[in-house]
Amino acid sequence: MVGLEIHQQLACSTKLFCHCPPIKSEVLPYHFERRLRPAQSETGGLDPAAVFEFSKGKSNKYFWSPESSCLVEADEEPPHPLSEEGLDSALLVAKTLGSNVFDEVHVMRKIVIDGSNTGGFQRTAVVGLGGSIDVGGETVGVQSVTLEEDAARIMGEDSTSRHFALDRLGVALVEVALDPVKGDPELVGRVALYLGRVLRSTGRVARGLGTIRQDLNVSLSGGKVVEVKGVQKLNLLPRVVEYERARQSALVSVAARLKEKGVKAVICGTTDVTEEARDSGSRVLREKAAEGGKVVAVSARGLKGLMGWEPAPGFRLGKEVAEVARANSLGGVIHSDEFDHQGIQKQEEARLEALTGAEEDDAIVLLAGMAEQVDACVPRVVERLRGAVAGVPAETRAATDTGETRYMRPRPGSQRMYPETDIPNIGVTKKILADLGKKVPQNWEERVSKLAHTYGLSEDMALKLYDSELDGEFEVLARGLKLEPSVIASTLVDLPPRLAREGVPEAALGLEILTGVLRSVAHGNIAKEAIPDVLKAVGAGNRDIDDAIRSLGLERVDESKIRAVIESVLLRNAELVREKGEAAFAQLMGDAMKELRGRADGAVVARVLKAKLGQTGRRWQ
Ligand SMILES: [Zn+2]
Repeated sequence: MVGLEIHQQLACSTKLFCHCPPIKSEVLPYHFERRLRPAQSETGGLDPAAVFEFSKGKSNKYFWSPESSCLVEADEEPPHPLSEEGLDSALLVAKTLGSNVFDEVHVMRKIVIDGSNTGGFQRTAVVGLGGSIDVGGETVGVQSVTLEEDAARIMGEDSTSRHFALDRLGVALVEVALDPVKGDPELVGRVALYLGRVLRSTGRVARGLGTIRQDLNVSLSGGKVVEVKGVQKLNLLPRVVEYERARQSALVSVAARLKEKGVKAVICGTTDVTEEARDSGSRVLREKAAEGGKVVAVSARGLKGLMGWEPAPGFRLGKEVAEVARANSLGGVIHSDEFDHQGIQKQEEARLEALTGAEEDDAIVLLAGMAEQVDACVPRVVERLRGAVAGVPAETRAATDTGETRYMRPRPGSQRMYPETDIPNIGVTKKILADLGKKVPQNWEERVSKLAHTYGLSEDMALKLYDSELDGEFEVLARGLKLEPSVIASTLVDLPPRLAREGVPEAALGLEILTGVLRSVAHGNIAKEAIPDVLKAVGAGNRDIDDAIRSLGLERVDESKIRAVIESVLLRNAELVREKGEAAFAQLMGDAMKELRGRADGAVVARVLKAKLGQTGRRWQ
């Protein structure tokens, strides 16, 4: 089962709780440092994810610029009232998805202490529940539509602190959580693509890279839910689902083996073996011990042989444990199934077994590092080893660029929410709802087919325009310029990627450049055939369009020049014309266009050639 959550930034003029513009700052001249600690929820509990992050003991450095952040982001000033623009957009998204919109919106604080918020919480407000989308005949339910503030942007970390940029903190985003869909990983990709198009149809969402993020909740039937955060690219979704399916199945296999062995609980014991590690066969252990670090051996009942076992290629319990340790900043992890490989011989293994009291069927996991890190890590590793009997633990993982996932932290629980008392509840009146009802956009599929129909484009081209989010610009150009709509469309969406494959950076071909070239064609300065050459020249050097046209000698030629060229082509091919008459048209046309090198409109050349060919043909008959 795969549940999809999409986080989409909204196109607003300000952030959600202050008046800063939602812009990315290239220069962040100031910074301050904070430590965060978990606070109790209103029911008195602590969130496990918050406790986990706190136990890492890192501080947070926030880098900021006054152009994109103020005292609200620094949590030094109370939040301003919720942005009406943001709320209106989120409500419109909810309406568009057919959700039931609440008549009162309550802003909540969701505890997040990984440092991505200066206050230790994210402000969030559910605006609607329910609704559905219909993806190629498959109805997928909407669970909730939530208006949230975006988190600070992580820039990196060192051994003592994480570094964040404050510019993104507080930017309005809408989160849409869908009902889980079964099975097919490809379907998940299609659902995400479809939902993205629905969101764009509202005209209220931000554009460009990094403005949309997908999270997945993946579980095998009857298993615990694993949350995978931050899938940036749509085409990675199916791969992430496949990876999780294989990983979780492998963990279920390990649990099944334990059951076969009659192991009901993985009982763990911990022993400080720092002294013994000083003359270990393992270089890592010797070094850590010599550096004044600490080495702890964890024995785990019944796991011998199962740590290094690969039920599926690349998936091992040992790897899972190492990931948990790494998430706690500990790299030195060795388990007994790899002792041999790590230089730990039989004799040393026997000594470790004696020290830890490990029995024949028990695995031993060695954790080596600075004492503080090892102490913080031991309970996490013990918890993970104990969890082996249950198969898949509920946890939060991060997606990698290649579609794999890495352990991040335990899953947050229900203890993480409490009301944001700085923001009054907001009533959503019948009038607001009625006004919104009028703004619900046309279904995007209808929009695409209308675009195709109105401008005589193929459905495929219309969809490309819609997906590139240039459909609005296209319509303006198609109405304003005397040009075939298909030329405008292909220049906007087909040419930039095609030229990118030929080495022209796509970033060099912005909308302004594309529009400029189209205007040159419409004004008769160049022929449409010259568009690719002009764009190539503009993209290659920092030349403007007119420069490029002049330097390429692509100024459009007038009809008398076309006539002259055609006459010389006819003269050169006199024999061919005599033999084939009008059937020679295609070859002659090719020759003429080559000679005119994009300086003339193909339609004009064809007309002139046909006329000349007709006359000449008759003369020769
Ligand atoms: Zn601000």
